[in-house]
Amino acid sequence: MTLISDNLSRVQDRIAAAARRAKRDESSITLVAVTKTHPAETVAAAIEAGLRHFGENRVEEATDKIPAVGMRYPEIVWHMIGHVQSRKAAKVAGLFDTVHSVESIKLVRRLSRFAGEQRRVLKVLLEFNLSGDENKDGFKINGDNIDHDVRLLRQINEIVALPSLQIDGLMTMAPIVADPEQARPVFRALRELRNQLSRRYATNNWQHLSMGMTDDFEVAIEEGATLIRVGRAIFGARKR
Ligand SMILES: *Cc1c(COP(=O)(O)O)cnc(C)c1O
Repeated sequence: MTLISDNLSRVQDRIAAAARRAKRDESSITLVAVTKTHPAETVAAAIEAGLRHFGENRVEEATDKIPAVGMRYPEIVWHMIGHVQSRKAAKVAGLFDTVHSVESIKLVRRLSRFAGEQRRVLKVLLEFNLSGDENKDGFKINGDNIDHDVRLLRQINEIVALPSLQIDGLMTMAPIVADPEQARPVFRALRELRNQLSRRYATNNWQHLSMGMTDDFEVAIEEGATLIRVGRAIFGARKR
């Protein structure tokens, strides 16, 4: 408990400093505490330390953990940040408030369908792969201007029309690099893409940029992150 609150206050100081450097209001940045591999008791300790937003990356793990925590703390907001297999879309649509890792047209169709069946409005972020790594998940953009990528535009046209979803913005995973500065171009590209999308699809709310983790969240904040996903800096190294 003291370890978590000590770590948390250090992370909050770093968030505040990065926000100051970028001349941003700190309240525009939400810390999503990534509790994957950690038990419900750890989540409870983090809630007692003041955290409200939590991220999980595996559906199996979240299936027990979210209701266990929710019984005592119903006000907690849960973020799905990991790869979602299509066959788990129904479960995800019922468990989580926001899905950051929406990376295919097939998945987003299914999330829409299952959210509708459960009479929910699911918040989603579109995950983009901007690092050029073909093996990574995410939508890709051909070139650097959506107006010139007809295939992507066709997909977005369909996505913004889907029912039971609220498209809130974009998410990306930066490449793992030795120096966080090397991730900056990826974060900047996500912000630029968001700006293009919000000009073209002005009726949607593209406010969120989910980017930045333990090693690079300060750079992400300088580039406009509104949701940072931080695990190790709060909970220490993961065992698995
Ligand atoms: C695990 C994970 C994080 C948090 O990583 P840390 O390095 O522990 O801060 C963030 N985003 C995603 C998608 C993750 O899977």
